Amino acid sequence: MGQVYNEFHRRSIEDREGFWREQAALVDWHKPFDRVLEYSRPPFARWFVGGETNLCHNAVDRHLATRADQKALVFLSTETDTEQHYTYRQLHDEVNRCAAVMQSLGVGRGDRVLLYMPMIPEAAVAMLACARLGAIHSVVFGGFASHSLATRIDDASPKLIVSSDAGMRGGKVVRYKPLLDEAISLSGNKPEAVLLVNRGLDPEYTTVPGRDHDWATLRARHMDARVPVTWLESNEPSYILYTSGTTGKPKGVQRDVGGYAVALAASMKHIYQGNPGETMFTTSDIGWVVGHSYIVYAPLIAGMTTIFYEGVPIRPDAGIWWKIVQDHRVTVMFSAPTAIRVLKKQDESFVKRHDLSSLRHLFLAGEPLDEPTHRWIADVLGHPVIDHYWQTETGWPMLTSVPGVEATPVKFGSPSFPAYGYDLRLFREDGSEAGADEKAVVGVVPPLPPGCLSTVWGDDDRFVKTYFSMFRDRLIYSSFDWGIRDADGYHFILGRTDDVINVAGHRLGTREIEEAVQSHTAVAEVAVVGVADQLKGQMPLAFAVVKDPARTATPEARAALEKEVMAAVDGQLGAIARPARVHFVTMLPKTRSGKLLRRSIQALAEGRDPGDLTTLEDATALDQIRVAVQAPK
Ligand code: ATP
Ligand code: MG
Repeated sequence: MGQVYNEFHRRSIEDREGFWREQAALVDWHKPFDRVLEYSRPPFARWFVGGETNLCHNAVDRHLATRADQKALVFLSTETDTEQHYTYRQLHDEVNRCAAVMQSLGVGRGDRVLLYMPMIPEAAVAMLACARLGAIHSVVFGGFASHSLATRIDDASPKLIVSSDAGMRGGKVVRYKPLLDEAISLSGNKPEAVLLVNRGLDPEYTTVPGRDHDWATLRARHMDARVPVTWLESNEPSYILYTSGTTGKPKGVQRDVGGYAVALAASMKHIYQGNPGETMFTTSDIGWVVGHSYIVYAPLIAGMTTIFYEGVPIRPDAGIWWKIVQDHRVTVMFSAPTAIRVLKKQDESFVKRHDLSSLRHLFLAGEPLDEPTHRWIADVLGHPVIDHYWQTETGWPMLTSVPGVEATPVKFGSPSFPAYGYDLRLFREDGSEAGADEKAVVGVVPPLPPGCLSTVWGDDDRFVKTYFSMFRDRLIYSSFDWGIRDADGYHFILGRTDDVINVAGHRLGTREIEEAVQSHTAVAEVAVVGVADQLKGQMPLAFAVVKDPARTATPEARAALEKEVMAAVDGQLGAIARPARVHFVTMLPKTRSGKLLRRSIQALAEGRDPGDLTTLEDATALDQIRVAVQAPK
């Protein structure tokens, strides 16, 4: 860790209140807070107690005096060939109209509003309108099917649902409304009203009289509306967001208002280095935490222009993101490793033909960033690529390099250091602290910093039991991820604590085996799972995607490559970690947010039911796994 950052981080832990009091000046307060932190009921932390503020005010209203005519949001859709700009003034107008519409449908402070929407500007407007009213939004990713949507409706019991006729993905229309209707019929908590943006994409679009309302019609009735900001105590809830559910039943992460605003503003300054008037491009979706924090709230709080993109990274061609960076002079970009791996399979001229000189950094998060991918993207971009690590629960980075405080050298494969505010350490399973180069659980000594989840929605008990009960004698927040810290203080994430396989008594992380497989230059991507084995307990099984299909064109070629890959694992980790088989596929089953569905792969490999697949990106990927594990050797 660099000297300067080390000191910055130390102070954030040792003088918590002083540190965060300073950061709190980055946002507007309607009423100043009485106390920076109240921590009388661990692990529940209350930040900026007594202070009153509002996320919509900080993201929109406060910029009107200085940047009303600056672009706030640029909507780009390569699905519908649309480009639309909203200045801060126009965004303010739209948010006021939407807030008035919501009010007319009975929405007020503390009410839940569920959003099930494609990446259209109305989604951001609706989120901000909720924030304005003090209503609690719960955005459900548009890719979820009715069953998953219904469980979230049941849990959040929304007064209003905002949705749309359809989304589009890769040129295909995805009908939302029938899924929503079905979800509402499945749900025990039926909303009083549904507000619908009709994009005209679905010719069979239907509405339910009395319940369904048309966005455009109601908007037209409130064109001149001005809805005053509802000032909220810092610890009132701003939103609920369910975790991706990669490892099981989703949890309703509840976020506060003031702590979140401060955490985001501080992260824009110290981590992302996004300045007012500049442009940020985050390639996520509003259904995920990255979309909440770094498409909508943080760039707007920072007075930036945010790019709101509907489309895939390879349409019309694999240069589309870099064209956006060039055309909009993007300075901060945020994406996910999975997308970069997709682009890596394409010709690098798609990147290089664009003028990317405006770019300062590319940040990546969401899953492990393997070294070859990290090297490749850093080389072709010619700009630093920062791997950083965080979770839905934390709302902003936990491990990162912090270039706004000190530029530290990148180590490939490492998301660097604990972010300021996090007393992040590595814990052995007995709760004692691990030393350098020792694999252990990534944990945080509470209180968690501002911006992190305040509880699980409606279930304080589940909050404590889920996150703070891994170690018997110490109250520690568990990330459920393995990590390791080297002698220079760089951290490496080694996979999830439930991704461990036990081969003849040896505990091996699937992530480490994946790294070893990936060290073979022919391999683009790989998933390793443990499958039951009579003799050894469990055996690793690898599913690999190759860069050049010629390498697996014939059975002989496949067998030869399989041997080479096994030898690579032997060389790196020893024969104990050698996969029983290396199957070659063209695609791995992933969630829409790019996370490997390891649980489902493992289930199929053991001949079990793959489980809940509503977030699966492409069903044919699972079919390939099915075929691979059934094929004779
Ligand atoms: P659920 O908790 O419901 O199973 P999830 O953990 O997949 O879902 P997210 O909160 O979206 O939902 O993902 C956070 C997880 O993603 C982290 O706990 C970690 O496993 C992984 N992750 C995020 N960033 C990185 C990174 N830079 N390197 C390695 N892993 C990462
Ligand atoms: Mg998780």
